[in-house]
Amino acid sequence: MNFTYLIPSGNPVETEVLFENDDDGRSRIRKRYASLACAKCGKVDEYAALSLGVDPNVIVRTKKDYFGTFDHFDCVSQRLRAILEQANVSGVGFVELPKSRSYSILVPKFRVHVDLATSAMQFRRKPCPICGRYQESTGYPPLRSMELPTERLVMFMPDFLPEKSDARMAVWIASEDVVKLLQDANITGIDWDAF
Ligand SMILES: [Zn+2]
Repeated sequence: MNFTYLIPSGNPVETEVLFENDDDGRSRIRKRYASLACAKCGKVDEYAALSLGVDPNVIVRTKKDYFGTFDHFDCVSQRLRAILEQANVSGVGFVELPKSRSYSILVPKFRVHVDLATSAMQFRRKPCPICGRYQESTGYPPLRSMELPTERLVMFMPDFLPEKSDARMAVWIASEDVVKLLQDANITGIDWDAF
């Protein structure tokens, strides 16, 4: 079975899930997630954070069905969510935005193991001694470095993601039957030729 990376096309929408600006205009972790921040490097487990809910001032305005936020969460329109739910695509869950309820953040139900030795990813400096995350890493883990699922209709995330200084970058991968489903429905916002 073939798999495809779901890469949002164009620019991310101008909103952040994890961060907000303080009174001086500096970006900081939202208060509701502050207790999750690593004492050493300040990073937060993005998907543990979502289990604490999403702030009402995370507002989205876009016509796309698939898009990313500034802090690297991939999101879908209500139309795309309904397509995935009706087809019973496994591996993916949804967190609805409380004040932009026609959009949801995609949440992984499982992550597949990446063999870092064959991943060809690159890492800056040593990992954080407390949470184990790198300050920055680049490259997408290739499929050959992963233990791939066998379901026909599945979406998943690798268990090792590229790191930016603020957050991990969402990397969603879909089976070819899911890709066909999305292409038949003329889903917008995915760069099908990114890889
Ligand atoms: Zn840390």
